[in-house]
Amino acid sequence: MKILVCVKQVPNTNAVKINPETGTLIRDGVESILNPDDDNALEAALQIKDKVEGTNVTVISMGPPQATEVLVECLAKGADDAILLSSRAFGGADTWATSNTIAGAIEKIGDYDIVFAGRQAIDGDTAQVGPQIAEKLNIPQVTYVEEVQKVEDGKITVKRQLEDGYEIIEIPTPCLLTAVKELNTPRYMSVKGIYDAYNTEITVWDENDIPVKPEEIGLKSSPTKVFRSFTPEPKGKGMMIEGTPKEAAVKVVDELKKKHFL
Ligand SMILES: Cc1cc2nc3c(=O)[nH]c(=O)nc-3n(C[C@H](O)[C@H](O)[C@H](O)COP(=O)(O)OP(=O)(O)OC[C@H]3O[C@@H](n4cnc5c(N)ncnc54)[C@H](O)[C@@H]3O)c2cc1C
Repeated sequence: MKILVCVKQVPNTNAVKINPETGTLIRDGVESILNPDDDNALEAALQIKDKVEGTNVTVISMGPPQATEVLVECLAKGADDAILLSSRAFGGADTWATSNTIAGAIEKIGDYDIVFAGRQAIDGDTAQVGPQIAEKLNIPQVTYVEEVQKVEDGKITVKRQLEDGYEIIEIPTPCLLTAVKELNTPRYMSVKGIYDAYNTEITVWDENDIPVKPEEIGLKSSPTKVFRSFTPEPKGKGMMIEGTPKEAAVKVVDELKKKHFL
């Protein structure tokens, strides 16, 4: 079985602080990490590898040369190969151009059973790249996968998270699945894994190595452009409500009505 996992290097958004004077984000010194949902996607792939003999797991990332760091981490956890899609021509891409580039690389790889992605990246936060890759490859997809129940020849059964329940879906392979954090607990890197990872060569592809057209990739070809970005206004001060529980409840309801929540 051949499994591909799309992984993104992201700034640790928990550590991003706001400069109170300028109101802008302080990104200096913020570490870059493997996007959390992608760690769950990789873990799901590695668990299948542990069970199904002969499974090969390849991780793919589009990003600048330093994105190699997350690929090394994935190799140290147990992935077999890593591909970095890196070129100035890919820079500034929106989700459409990003998914064109990643789908192009997957098309080049050709022979695969499952493509895993995270549900969402914690920086861009759109949750669009996985589904768009599936559309471009013309393969079925299940998003919000919280459990992989059965892996059989030619099909896989998964549990899909919904707001108020779940769905059990049987899906033919090749297919794309996006992972949520409830799917599993990602493993740590092993010492041998770290050692081996630094001895594994990472394949680097640019726009000439994959079947993509110049008008499908990068900032210039992106249908959306970020026009302005700003730090959201801090929330107002909290309000203390005095009185008996009954009086307080009435005041809370009044406040919620004033703000049109009720
Ligand atoms: C300089 C710059 C300019 C940008 N300009 C724009 C713009 O004009 N308009 C706009 O809409 N966006 C813009 N972006 C953001 C960019 O669109 C997103 O970072 C990118 O498309 C991925 O979307 P996302 O982060 O929302 O991923 P999501 O869709 O939330 O990610 C879902 C999953 O897809 C996979 N994935 C996502 N990205 C990658 C990747 N690079 N490599 C491998 N797997 C990946 C991962 O598995 C991830 O968990 C810009 C980014 C930069 C750095």
